[in-house]
Amino acid sequence: IPALTIENLSKVYGNGFEALKGISLTVEEGDFYALLGPNGAGKSTTIGIICSLVAKSGGKVQVFDADIDKDFAAAKKYIGIVPQEFNFNTFERVIDIVVNQGGYYGMSRELAAERAEKYLQALGLWEKRLEPSRNLSGGMKRRLMIARALVHEPKLLILDEPTAGVDIEMRRAMWEFLEKINAEGTTIILTTHYLEEAEALCRHIGIINHGEIVENTSIRELLRRL
Ligand code: ADP
Ligand code: ADP
Repeated sequence: IPALTIENLSKVYGNGFEALKGISLTVEEGDFYALLGPNGAGKSTTIGIICSLVAKSGGKVQVFDADIDKDFAAAKKYIGIVPQEFNFNTFERVIDIVVNQGGYYGMSRELAAERAEKYLQALGLWEKRLEPSRNLSGGMKRRLMIARALVHEPKLLILDEPTAGVDIEMRRAMWEFLEKINAEGTTIILTTHYLEEAEALCRHIGIINHGEIVENTSIRELLRRL
């Protein structure tokens, strides 16, 4: 059973703009998948719908065995989301941001604290745990969002433009971390507008443009054809 199945997904925004024109794609469990496309292509809209943050206009989305319409709670547990924009309370301490996220998934405080330590350590943020998040640099905030997304150890990690505005060195460290998480069994989907990033990390790639999937293939096959 695939980690993600999208069938004929469409989105028309309130102003009549057709952001997704019936896209279909499948991401197998264990895959590292890039949704690649220029700004405005429909990447964030797609991610928003998968995470039930944006209402779809038509089509079907299934995360493992959970249909996002019929089984929202199960779908939510399967997914960890790293949004493009920082969306935490900037006065809250780093450690609390991660631990409190565990509560959102019904985890015990004890387990959430254990996981918070594990991921803040892994992402080089443990020394910053008692600081309010507003004291962190841009790159650190992004890593904090990754730690927060992993607290319930989701089977599917989705990142929206994780390295946008992140410098090269930081980007490589982040890539290494994601590769490790993927090697340990987490399916990863990220959106990017850098082919280079998709190429460095991902096994499969969907290219989206003007709300349509124009290519859906393996990186190897794509490079062979270029
Ligand atoms: P990407 O993530 O690939 O940059 P988005 O999914 O954010 O693309 O946006 C796809 C298109 O939908 C863009 O043209 C964008 O301007 C439009 N769009 C996004 N959000 C809204 C909205 N709330 N209302 C109207 N149009 C929107
Ligand atoms: P910036 O101030 O440019 O945003 P950061 O403060 O985020 O950079 O990065 C501080 C240090 O942490 C850097 O030396 C970087 O190499 C390291 N680092 C970045 N990402 C990771 C990661 N995923 N795991 C461990 N260390 C990292």
